[in-house]
Amino acid sequence: MYDIRLEGVTKKFGDFTAVDNINFTIPKSSVTVLLGPSGCGKTTLMRMIAGLESPTNGKIFFGEHEVTNVPTRRRNIGMVFQYPVIYRGTSVRKNLELPLLSEKLSKAEIDKRVDEVAEILDLKDVLKRFVEELDNGTRQKIAVAREVARQPRIILFDEPITNIDLTSKLELKRSMKELFGRLQQTIVYVTHDQTEAMTLADQIALMQDGVITQSDSPKEIYDKPNSQFAGWFLGNPGMNFVPPEFIKVSGTKITSPLFSQTIDLGSKAASADTFGVRAEGISVSGTEEKGAVQARVTRKALGAGGQYLLDLAVGSLLIKARVSHSVGRSVQNSVWTTIASENITFFDKSGTAL
Ligand code: ATP
Repeated sequence: MYDIRLEGVTKKFGDFTAVDNINFTIPKSSVTVLLGPSGCGKTTLMRMIAGLESPTNGKIFFGEHEVTNVPTRRRNIGMVFQYPVIYRGTSVRKNLELPLLSEKLSKAEIDKRVDEVAEILDLKDVLKRFVEELDNGTRQKIAVAREVARQPRIILFDEPITNIDLTSKLELKRSMKELFGRLQQTIVYVTHDQTEAMTLADQIALMQDGVITQSDSPKEIYDKPNSQFAGWFLGNPGMNFVPPEFIKVSGTKITSPLFSQTIDLGSKAASADTFGVRAEGISVSGTEEKGAVQARVTRKALGAGGQYLLDLAVGSLLIKARVSHSVGRSVQNSVWTTIASENITFFDKSGTAL
């Protein structure tokens, strides 16, 4: 399989720079999710990898082969788009077979590939059905299955789940996860949905304003965002940010009424401006605890998995805490809260993690 190497890849539309000098390698045989808000340049980047758009500057390599000016049809890639591309007026099996027939494969090989992919994507029971009879989620599965059955070395997915209804979405996400676990191909998957990225990615490339701002495993980016943007964009809810008036810096040491202990940040302390903490990094108790600060519960909501999400007010500060079912159920209007040092990320004035 191939890795995909981007060297100084830039795309301008007139004066506007949609993708700005990206140097990045997408590792082979793994799932890389290009994640970011609308307009950050992820589709443009994917279209350049596909050959549907030419870079204004820079080079693209598949393994050792430069493909910057190679037309799409000669790049040996599969593509799945937001709206499923399917052949109407024909059966699901025919939909999967047609591209394989044009590759002149034997009947036995075609049957093997179709049955394999239908098994993984749970399409076996609908192989004889006409595509018009099926819902949008199943049609998208057919589009995915068809690309996978061709066995290209690289498969590109552009927001394949976005336009699917909620019930089919969960099912499709589960099927994709299962499928990606079995594939050896290099997968690039574009989405603006961070839960999709957290579920499917081996690595996330987080994009903002035409550049990749952080790339790492979902857990690493979630636990150690390199910027306030990454902390905010990943997670539901995103990271809490606590403004400068809640911390006191003296020399290398930082204290806060919210901290369970003094934190020594060494020479970086002077740059500390705000700090971030995930909702589950905030300890909450219904009874008064030494060193903890009192907070008012302004909202309490039962979330997925039985945990509670609490909106807390500490003076003028509003933060969200995720607590266990038993803690959440028992707390009343007033709680005591504290944050352990390992759950804290400091940021400088520009929003960069220290
Ligand atoms: P979305 O999720 O909304 O598609 P995206 O991150 O995929 O967002 P792109 O579609 O890559 O973003 O677009 C990046 C920027 O480039 C946007 O501001 C968009 O308006 C602009 N853009 C994209 N294609 C063109 C084009 N053909 N001509 C002019 N501007 C374009």
